[in-house]
Amino acid sequence: MAYDFDLFVIGAGSGGVRAARFAAGFGARVAVAESRYLGGTCVNVGCVPKKLLVYGAHFADDFEQAQGYGWSPGETGFNWPTLISNKNREIQRLNGIYRNLLVNSGVTLLESHARLLDAHHVEVDGQRFSAEHILLATGGWPQIPEIPGHEHAIGSNEAFFLQQLPKRVLVVGGGYIAVEFASIFHGMGAQTTLLYRRELFLRGFDGAVRQHLKEELGRKGLELQFNAEIARIDKQADGSLLATLKDGRVLEADCVFYATGRRPMLDNLGLENTGVELDERGFIRVDEQFQTTEPSILAIGDVIGRVQLTPVALAEGMAVARRLFKPEEYRPVDYAHIPTAVFSLPNIGTVGLTEEEARQAGHKVKIFESRFRALKLTLTECQERTLMKLVVDAETDRVLGCHMVGPEAGEIIQGLAVALKAGATKQLFDETLGVHPTAAEEFVTMRAPVTS
Ligand code: FAD
Ligand code: NDP
Repeated sequence: MAYDFDLFVIGAGSGGVRAARFAAGFGARVAVAESRYLGGTCVNVGCVPKKLLVYGAHFADDFEQAQGYGWSPGETGFNWPTLISNKNREIQRLNGIYRNLLVNSGVTLLESHARLLDAHHVEVDGQRFSAEHILLATGGWPQIPEIPGHEHAIGSNEAFFLQQLPKRVLVVGGGYIAVEFASIFHGMGAQTTLLYRRELFLRGFDGAVRQHLKEELGRKGLELQFNAEIARIDKQADGSLLATLKDGRVLEADCVFYATGRRPMLDNLGLENTGVELDERGFIRVDEQFQTTEPSILAIGDVIGRVQLTPVALAEGMAVARRLFKPEEYRPVDYAHIPTAVFSLPNIGTVGLTEEEARQAGHKVKIFESRFRALKLTLTECQERTLMKLVVDAETDRVLGCHMVGPEAGEIIQGLAVALKAGATKQLFDETLGVHPTAAEEFVTMRAPVTS
């Protein structure tokens, strides 16, 4: 049977664009439908604008620290609308780049919502297209618990477009987005409180990292309330919000921001017209090669709910394009050693196993840790401390995990991820010369284990 396209991709986010471009490059006839914004979450309401806001928030510290170096910055002021409109301009530029990337690689771009009609047909704007393969790359959407008054709260999508910086913000959640946005709001000067429902935030990260970040955020004056959960939100006549906690306490704020995870984006996708099944968490179920339970339909990225990170969606998109149209170059996605950063202030950078995971997996471990005040801060009043930690297998000497809390942790951890993927031992770290004077050199100069 002759199809209109070899591959029809639904969603022009990180994963969809990568799959579409590479598939077209391998000679396939490819269409992409995008209902909202080219580049998807990462470019429009995720990684990129978030990082720009984090840069913006750090200037508060920079101005203060500059004084130790003899600078008199004078009177400083912060204008949120300026930052947001500059950010919007940059995102628009990136949208244009994504459009060109797709069109120039020969992909047919349909800027509208797509809905599955059956295993080989998609409807866009009343038009019906057939395709041999369909790729679902529809991403995710913020999930806000439906407590009374939840309609007064915002999620990350709205946070990027707030008209004004709220004076008092309650950030709810203890994952990446909560910690990053708490740092953003606090850095910009908002009175910020982070509420997390359990003992300590960033569940799944190394224990020392979680504890260290808690101390550093606390030192900066960001209020952290653990074992705290909001039961209801009420709007007052003056527009401010009252959040009543489950323990009965009432907190007043101008903005309540929920960062409590993301659900798969399946709205009006037409899955019911196909044999695509969901897993027990509601994400699209796929096999090792990203095939759904409907053989002609594949799915990648946040909508399959494996690891919700842009480089992972990119790798999955690439794997699908190769498997379908260049099988001789196909390599499965390796989910081990995925480096990641939390762009809180200070940043977290991490790759490999946490100490807890290593012990649980049965490794006998040696732990190396270094805590220090960065050289740059010695002429300033800032007391921030950096943490670096290595988790090493005591029997094989292999480095199982590298963890850091401190400036540029994401930048530093990227290189270490290569070492871990190559199977580097602690001896190899020891034999590597440092770059002096840097913070990163600590990773190759830690000699004595703290525990074994
Ligand atoms: P998306 O990028 O979400 O793309 C899906 C696209 O599909 C969207 O454009 C959507 O409009 C479109 N779509 C959905 N349904 C339809 C339909 N029926 N028809 C047509 N189009 C449709 N990851 C990192 O690695 N680093 C970070 O620093 C980082 N920061 C983040 C910050 C925030 C606030 C958020 C929310 C996420 C962040 N992420 C980060 C995660 C990252 O953005 C996602 O993992 C990544 O975007 C997933 O890519 P995707 O292709 O699966 O989906
Ligand atoms: P996460 O899954 O990382 O964190 C969700 C948080 O919300 C957890 O602390 C969870 O608590 C808490 N939570 C969940 N449900 C509720 C509830 N009903 N009431 C109160 N608290 C609740 O999600 P995020 O929204 O922070 O981010 C989504 C994903 O996007 C991340 O996991 C990450 O993969 C990606 N991302 C990556 C970034 C980066 O690379 N820098 C930045 C931002 C996002 P508990 O621990 O108890 O489950």
